[in-house]
Amino acid sequence: MKEDYYVILAGGVGAAKLIEGLAHVIKPELLKIIINTGDDIELFGLKICPDLDIITYTLANLVDKEKGWGFIDESFNCLTILKKYYDSGWFNIGDKDLATHIYRTDLFKQGFSKAEITKLICHNLGVKSHLIPMTNESVETYIYTPSKSMHFEEYFIKHQCKPKVLKIEFRGIEKATPVNNVLNYIKKAKKIIICPSNPIVSIGTILQVKGIKEALSNVKDRVFGISPIIEGATVKGPADKLMNCIGLEISCLGVANFYKEFLGNFIIDIKDCFFKPKVEELGINTYCFDTLMVDLRKKIELAQYVINL
Ligand code: GDP
Repeated sequence: MKEDYYVILAGGVGAAKLIEGLAHVIKPELLKIIINTGDDIELFGLKICPDLDIITYTLANLVDKEKGWGFIDESFNCLTILKKYYDSGWFNIGDKDLATHIYRTDLFKQGFSKAEITKLICHNLGVKSHLIPMTNESVETYIYTPSKSMHFEEYFIKHQCKPKVLKIEFRGIEKATPVNNVLNYIKKAKKIIICPSNPIVSIGTILQVKGIKEALSNVKDRVFGISPIIEGATVKGPADKLMNCIGLEISCLGVANFYKEFLGNFIIDIKDCFFKPKVEELGINTYCFDTLMVDLRKKIELAQYVINL
């Protein structure tokens, strides 16, 4: 008999922490991870997929755990010369990381799809989970600021999320369809787990891919989310600024409101437990747990908790 599997919706660093924990409590083969590709960018003629790579390197046990992205024991020699040739030297490409982007770009040129390339990269790096880009089509997140509009990665890395955000746009999203079978995976999964990721530019992007939100709404009682907002603040990254831009309260309640159409169950941080009645008023079963994953033990404890619920 086929074993039950879990579908995971993921962004980058926040998601990778939970996924590392999940891979310790259930067989990695049972994880089907749908990953945001709105951060994908082409630089130096290379196709770069930041969130796919973070999750891949994490599950391959090759990630730099301090930074949460890139390879462990990385060097940046190539980047020092790239900076002499290009203005886009603000993007931190490590020497080992470069190999992934060269391989991916080569396969793209040969006509492989993003999903096929992801599978090959995972296979070669020994990743047993099934990593799936949210779509094969190109989607790029753009941030509008008072001075100009820019790719999310430029806002995030070059400008350190400092400019005021006026508007967020997912370019290409209207043509984005899910990769084969993804809607069916959601329908049949034992649980669907929404990682503590940026609700707007990581999970929010995935939700806008055709059919995903509806598929989740149909299995609402099996959808489990974990709040990325603790005590009214992000652990890291610009989720607060982006939530503010679209008029959401910066709290676990704000996230719950954003997800309420399809979220049956929500784990909020123990420090936010006073929000439980308000979140439950939205028709969402709410649980309080220590969700700050500061080390492997915390990652495993949270993963075990969501699996046991
Ligand atoms: P990025 O690519 O790193 O921006 O990120 P993600 O899409 O993975 O999301 C970052 C979000 O994850 C932020 O809103 C953080 O607050 C949240 N996050 C990061 N680490 C943790 C954690 O240990 N616990 C919880 N609850 N949220 C976290």
